[in-house]
Amino acid sequence: MRILIAEDDLTSRKILSGVLRKIGHEVLETVDGFAAWTELQKTGGPKLAILDWMMPEMEGLDVVRKVRALDIEKPPYIIMLTTRGEKSDIIAGLDAGANDYLSKPFDTGELQARVEVGRRMIELQDALVESRKALAYEASHDPLTKLANRRAVLEYLELQMVSARENGDILTAGMCDIDHFKKVNDTWGHQVGDDVLCELAHLLRESVEGRGAAGRMGGEEFLLVLRMKPGGDFMGEYAAICARIAATPLKTRAGDIPVTVSIGVSCASGKSSVDAILGPADAALYSAKAGGRNRAVFASLENEENAETSDCPRSE
Ligand code: GH3
Ligand code: MG
Ligand code: MG
Ligand code: MG
Repeated sequence: MRILIAEDDLTSRKILSGVLRKIGHEVLETVDGFAAWTELQKTGGPKLAILDWMMPEMEGLDVVRKVRALDIEKPPYIIMLTTRGEKSDIIAGLDAGANDYLSKPFDTGELQARVEVGRRMIELQDALVESRKALAYEASHDPLTKLANRRAVLEYLELQMVSARENGDILTAGMCDIDHFKKVNDTWGHQVGDDVLCELAHLLRESVEGRGAAGRMGGEEFLLVLRMKPGGDFMGEYAAICARIAATPLKTRAGDIPVTVSIGVSCASGKSSVDAILGPADAALYSAKAGGRNRAVFASLENEENAETSDCPRSE
């Protein structure tokens, strides 16, 4: 483990670093509080710090306060060095955010034991951060395709609607459904169907990369969100996505399987809610299916009962 020692007293510093190196730690020595503060701010800085109280440039207590005020994912474990008997110092140090303290002159056995406690705490904290990340990922991603799940993609759509409106950009939603997917399952089995979903998800993600997002709404239905500058030919883009999918047989455990998709497209202009854009997109998807599938259809005004206006430029 990388340990920072901030101690201006040479003898004490050398004893500390000697003991810690002997038990296999990598030690970084500083002789003043400011140098310690500089090291502790660095990303990937030391995980554990032993700080003397009285030091030139910046007191140990101030270093602790500053480090604790930082918004960092994995804050360092801090042990304060105090002079034996100064109870009020100990309390002030712990109050400021130190994790533990060690009285000078210290006992090397106690030093090792306290550093070991710190190591265990750091391990626990790391595990906690990792599991929190894993939970956040699971809560926002579809486990099969790894795309954003329904909740996450709808959240994204809502945020993009606001930001596109503020910037005068065109924002569109494309409800995308695999054509005759039931046949894939019936012919090749459910696992092959899953392979198709994963490969298609990959293609969809690639198709909107840098310009929007793709998410899995459920089953074989995906939502595409595409943002572009005014005048952009969004229907051309959706037609190109359909054409690309139709021209790309998807790799599965049973070999390459061609699929097509139908997309119902709606524009967010003038609409204030996610439902107001999804309703027309759904209706347009229905039209795309009825019209023969393997196509992108723009939500017609008749389908836009909920829409306040629809002033998106339409490509014919
Ligand atoms: P259409 O062109 O009208 O959309 O026809 P379709 O066959 O695609 O639509 P339908 O709604 O009849 O069937 C959808 C199928 O998708 C039925 C369901 O078993 C399958 N499905 C839904 N989720 C999954 C999944 O996670 N894995 C697999 N393998 N199949 C799924
Ligand atoms: Mg000192
Ligand atoms: Mg389908
Ligand atoms: Mg469907």
